[in-house]
Amino acid sequence: MSQNFQAMIEIFAIGGYDEVGKNMTMVRVDGEAVILDMGLHIESYVNYTESREDITETSVKTLIKHNIVPDFSKVSQYSDEVKAIIPTHAHLDHLGAVPFLAKNFNAPVVCTPFTREVLLSIIKDDHFQFPNQVKTLNINSKLKLTKNLSVEFINSTHSTPQTVMVALHTKYGVVLYANDFKFDEFPTFGMKTNIEKLRKFSQSHKVVALVVDSTYSNREQKTPSESVAKEMLRDVMLGTDTRGRCVIVTTFSSHIARLKSIVEFGKQMRRRIVFLGRSLHKYVTAAENINLINFSKDVKMVKYGKQIKRELKIIEKEGKHKYLLVVTGHQGEPGSTLSKMASGVYKFSFSPEDFVIFSCTTIPTPINQENRKVLEDKLHKFRVRIFKDIHVSGHASKEDLRDLINLVKPRHIIPAHGDIRMRSGLFQLAAEMGYDTERFVHLLGNGQRIELDT
Ligand SMILES: [Zn+2]
Repeated sequence: MSQNFQAMIEIFAIGGYDEVGKNMTMVRVDGEAVILDMGLHIESYVNYTESREDITETSVKTLIKHNIVPDFSKVSQYSDEVKAIIPTHAHLDHLGAVPFLAKNFNAPVVCTPFTREVLLSIIKDDHFQFPNQVKTLNINSKLKLTKNLSVEFINSTHSTPQTVMVALHTKYGVVLYANDFKFDEFPTFGMKTNIEKLRKFSQSHKVVALVVDSTYSNREQKTPSESVAKEMLRDVMLGTDTRGRCVIVTTFSSHIARLKSIVEFGKQMRRRIVFLGRSLHKYVTAAENINLINFSKDVKMVKYGKQIKRELKIIEKEGKHKYLLVVTGHQGEPGSTLSKMASGVYKFSFSPEDFVIFSCTTIPTPINQENRKVLEDKLHKFRVRIFKDIHVSGHASKEDLRDLINLVKPRHIIPAHGDIRMRSGLFQLAAEMGYDTERFVHLLGNGQRIELDT
């Protein structure tokens, strides 16, 4: 950075800068701070919890050691300065560490109503002691935190409802945190990204820094709209002959838009629709609690193992070809409903040419790839029809990132949400767009901090 300016804004990269997962960033302005995201490293979390019943009492030190939550030791000295902890959306790599870490900061959690519902259900289900206040701020609304700091939630399209970009208004300008987002002009559910608001920022030249999702910055494309995924689903669910076959679909439980499409097609297929699995129950209930959706008249929800076993027995007795089953287990997680059905833990007779539709991609990590292989090998033995990758991503690609940079014209760019290879894609893009990357684009690692000239 330049030494000619007085440093006013500090950005602390805490988690998610060396990997995909455990996102956490702190912005500090003149002795006041805001924490943006507080997420889990999902695979480390799943690994660690597989052999343990309850980790709510596990020490933070142990969780950090096992790479489950971000190591926030570099900012713990500022804990009294923190005015708000802001999870930007309900994905666990942004929200999931809040129940473990928020108590170390004397500050409220501020999030959208859907994110709040999911957070409260985790706290309740897992019996966390949680002293922090949880406040809601609606999409496209603003909240004054202190005399000098306000936050604004800018609605953004992603793969779970009420995802926001956070604009932190300071007396030196705006820090815009866009982690995660994509530009979807044809969403199937919820509103478009609030481009008008972003354009206004650029007109007033106020964006000091953009901290941004760079996971897919190397993909030379615009991430397709969710309406494309809906068409792909329609093509498989309504465009093939499913008569006499059981149809099973699995997708991300937090992807309410996708679930809504699945239910819509299930109804057109005139099938009884049953959701099987705990995390489906958690996210659907959160969305229903705030009246985002109402699945209750069309969908039977079954949450726990014993009930699932009983339900599957009924389904087979009634004729499984009359049903659409929506199940957990898109990554082949061993504890999920689909894995248990395939391995016989839940008794279910797959017949040849039954349908198994994966409305997801396999997240490319060794554990997921191995889990999915194990699951698919089992499914192949039943000679079922497998439909993979009926999916589009919720993350911005290179051309979405270019659009965002052109819209808000940030002075500084800080690539987040990914390892160095992913973040370098954004660095290259900024160079291509004429940025002086040495001064204005910052590749920070976890635990690093930067002072920005404003
Ligand atoms: Zn996300």
